[in-house]
Amino acid sequence: MSGAAKTSEPKRPGAVQVLLVEDSEDDAMLISYRLERHDEPIETTRVDTAFALQAALEAKRWDIVISDYHMPLLSGLVALELVRRHSPDLPFILVSAAIGEDVAVDAMRSGANDYLMKDKLARLLPAFQRELRASRLRHASIAERDAQKERIEHLAHYDPTTGLANRVLFEERLCELVGRAREKRERLAVVVVHLDRLGTVAGVIGRQAGDELVVQASARLASLAQEAVRIARIDADRFAIVVSGLDPQCHAVHELQQRMKAAFDTAFLLSGREFGLDPSLGVAIYPDDGANEVIVLHNAEAASAQARNTGMECLFYAEQMTASAAEKLAMEDRLRHALERNEFVLHYQPKVDIRGGKVAGVEALIRWRSAELGLVYPALFIPILEETGLILEVGAWAMREAAAAHRRWRERGPDAPRVAVNVSVSQLHDPDFVAIVRAAIGGESAAPPIDLEITESLLMADVEQSIAKLSEIRDLGVGISIDDFGTGYSSLAYLAKLPLVAVKIDRLFIAAMLEDPGTMRLVATMVDLAHSLQLKVVAEGVESKEQVAALRSLGCDEIQGYLVSGPVPFDDMTALLASGDTLQALFPADDAGPDFVRFPRDQNSGLPDPSAARRFARMPPGTIS
Ligand code: C2E
Ligand code: CA
Ligand code: CA
Repeated sequence: MSGAAKTSEPKRPGAVQVLLVEDSEDDAMLISYRLERHDEPIETTRVDTAFALQAALEAKRWDIVISDYHMPLLSGLVALELVRRHSPDLPFILVSAAIGEDVAVDAMRSGANDYLMKDKLARLLPAFQRELRASRLRHASIAERDAQKERIEHLAHYDPTTGLANRVLFEERLCELVGRAREKRERLAVVVVHLDRLGTVAGVIGRQAGDELVVQASARLASLAQEAVRIARIDADRFAIVVSGLDPQCHAVHELQQRMKAAFDTAFLLSGREFGLDPSLGVAIYPDDGANEVIVLHNAEAASAQARNTGMECLFYAEQMTASAAEKLAMEDRLRHALERNEFVLHYQPKVDIRGGKVAGVEALIRWRSAELGLVYPALFIPILEETGLILEVGAWAMREAAAAHRRWRERGPDAPRVAVNVSVSQLHDPDFVAIVRAAIGGESAAPPIDLEITESLLMADVEQSIAKLSEIRDLGVGISIDDFGTGYSSLAYLAKLPLVAVKIDRLFIAAMLEDPGTMRLVATMVDLAHSLQLKVVAEGVESKEQVAALRSLGCDEIQGYLVSGPVPFDDMTALLASGDTLQALFPADDAGPDFVRFPRDQNSGLPDPSAARRFARMPPGTIS
């Protein structure tokens, strides 16, 4: 025979596909005979030239290759090379009449899985079965990984509770709808529906019933949208609906409001109890209230927040603007002077190593000591700084101040922690950003005084642009972390491309993980994912020792939170750094300490199991092995 492949039997689905590289028909029969005792059907195809081998590899998926060593038209090592080039993982067993020890070693080095002598063919079946099993295990774990990636990607676009699109997908779709409206010169409304009490009700009736309520409410909302692609759950208690082809008087929006009122008139029934929900609507219109989808959505959200705060059913962005404009102007004015008056301060919060309790770094968190308003937290003024562009100046100040703090600690001792500074995306987009960072670290490129933290959701919105800049900053020696990890639905591809050193898991997940196995699984997945990208994992908002124990058993690297210390002024942080032993007390060595129990794991999932932990905790000491 030459060239063409001959199949010993007609194609049987599910049969093990064996590719036999063998010139001798007799030897081929001997080999087939040896494999007969395998407990699955086997389909063998024989080839004996490089050309036929190549064609067979292209033609379909094989489970295993068994190859002769000496053949007139093809050497076993060449066959091996061809197979490896085509499918690096395909099991390959070399069989030969006579083969020197050195050739065998060579073959194994070039990637053969096993070799055996023709006069010892009894070894063939066990070798065949072992390689098949190993290869299937490899495939199963790859398939499991792929499935997990797919689950994460799905989480990235859909809300798991309602199955509606989430914010990320909504923004993509809105971008498209706005594009179409622009082409057709049409107007479009974004209606953000805030379902008041949705968040608090869950606290009263329990999470499961809370979810049930969300599902029922979202079904009523979905029935009001023009199409399924025009509604999304953009937040825990906020939904967004797009109305395209809007008429000049916005009748369609008013009509939607009426229908919504009717739909929510009937109370929701949950385990025999009735619950009422009052939607507050915020409306922004393209192009009247914003030139692109980002601004329109942002403004619709602002309007819905204002509607809720003032107890209105529905508020158009344009109306709300005039109401709050004066107040905002006054605030802007105060903030403009805050820098000159030296009213900003940084507080510092330690990140500690989860194993030894050593301070691994500190995070700088800005506060505003306003003469009129007292100590103001960033949530209240960062958005205004962003809107007015003042964030650039204030952000640069924060970096310089943080670097100065590091230098002062360094004067006291060699263990001075680096200071992580939060940057917002408008800073990152500033053309001078790299220069500003360089100026702040003052040329100390060997061990720069500061690192940076960037919020995931904002970073991912414009990631391609950011990669180049962040790489330049990384090259300065500055470490970059993703903040609030888990809330922004990073694409895996981007995470791998960004020059990161760490991810900080958002404190919402840490707060929920002991109560909710789903969240625990998610945290475990995030830790594994980050580790597979060689990133360090920091848990934010750690408030209890139980959380530490669970995080430790998941392999998390560092923790940050009130359990160790909240953000404190410079002098307090200095004192805390000096008394390192108070931190050690929180972290007894791995196997010691009456108050540290190795976190019990669920037998099926292998994840930390809080209910088992609680059972353990009730046992008298000494019963825990
Ligand atoms: P972030 O970066 O996620 O900061 C963590 C927030 O969680 C801080 O709030 C911190 O005080 C708080 N926190 C820390 N440990 C715990 C805990 O155990 N439990 C709870 N419940 N909370 C904890 P803060 O200081 O109000 O800062 C809020 C946000 O403002 C920060 O979120 C950050 O995004 C932003 N921010 C702070 N400083 C700056 C800055 O200098 N520049 C910029 N652009 N943004 C900043
Ligand atoms: Ca941060
Ligand atoms: Ca954070």
